[in-house]
Amino acid sequence: MRIARTLPELRAALAALGARTFVPTMGALHEGHLALITAAATSGLPVAASIFVNPLQFGPSEDFNRYPRDEAGDLAKLASAGCALAWLPDVSIMYPADAATTITVAGPATRWEGELRPGHFAGVATVVAKLFGQVQPRAAYFGEKDWQQIQVISRMVQDLPLSVEVVPVPTVREPDGLALSSRNRFLSPADRRLAPALQSALRDTARRLNAGEDAATATAAGRFALNRAGLTPDYFALVHANSLEPLDALATPARLLTAARCGPVRLLDNIPVG
Ligand code: AMP
Repeated sequence: MRIARTLPELRAALAALGARTFVPTMGALHEGHLALITAAATSGLPVAASIFVNPLQFGPSEDFNRYPRDEAGDLAKLASAGCALAWLPDVSIMYPADAATTITVAGPATRWEGELRPGHFAGVATVVAKLFGQVQPRAAYFGEKDWQQIQVISRMVQDLPLSVEVVPVPTVREPDGLALSSRNRFLSPADRRLAPALQSALRDTARRLNAGEDAATATAAGRFALNRAGLTPDYFALVHANSLEPLDALATPARLLTAARCGPVRLLDNIPVG
C-alpha cells in the first residue's frame, strides 16, 4: 500500500494507480470502514482511502480534540483490507490559510443532524468536495449508517455537478444490533448494554408502520421505548429517504432515522421501512 502525505506524493501515487475508487474516513477504523474498502474493491479498480479528521465539521463544543486517532493501527487495517493508497493530508493541505471557498448546503442537510449541528454538513460537503478534487475517483463509497450524510453528498454531486458515483454500503453492526462507530469506545459497560435499544426501537417502529399504524403514533412509541431504555432521543422520525423531509404516512422510499444520547455518546442509526 502506498502512503501519500503531500499533494506531490498523492499525484505520483494516483498516476501509478490509474482509475480508482475512493473511501473517505476520519480514521479510528473498524469493520464498518473496512466493509467500505471491500465494497469499493468489488469494482475491480484499486481503492484509495483517506484519513482526515475534518475540523470544519465539528462544532465549537464538539469532540474534535478528543476524536480517537490511531494512524499506525489504521494503516495496518487498510493494508490488510487490500487498500492500494492511503491519503493522509494535514490541516494545512486541506485548509490553506488563504482558502476562500466553502460549500453551502440546504435541502437534505436542513433537518435532523443539520439542525442540531449547525455547519456540520457544510463542513462535510466542503471536505468531501476537496477530497474528490484531489483523488478524482470514479466512485466513492459511504456508509448507510450516516444516511443523511449520503443524501447531502449525493445532492452535492448532482448539483455541482461532479463526475463521481456515490455508492451506499449497508451498516455493519455488532451481533446485538448496535451500529459500529468510532465513538462506541466511549460507552461505559453500563451504557453499552443500553445502546442496542436504538436498533430495537427502529425495528419495532418499522413493524408498527408496516402493520398500518400512523406515523405519529408509531414514532412516539419509538421515542418512548428509547426513553424507557435509558437513552435520550434527539429525534426519531419517519422521513422521505432522499429529501429527509418528515412523512405523515408510510410512502416509498422511506427511512426511519434516529439519534439519541447514551451516556456521553450520541448514537445515530436508521433503517429502511415500507
Ligand atoms: P467516519 O470515519 O466516521 O467519518 O466514517 C467514514 C465512513 O465510514 C462514512 O461513510 C461512514 O458512514 C462509514 N461508516 C461508519 N460506521 C459505519 C458502519 N457501522 N457501517 C458502515 N459504514 C460505516
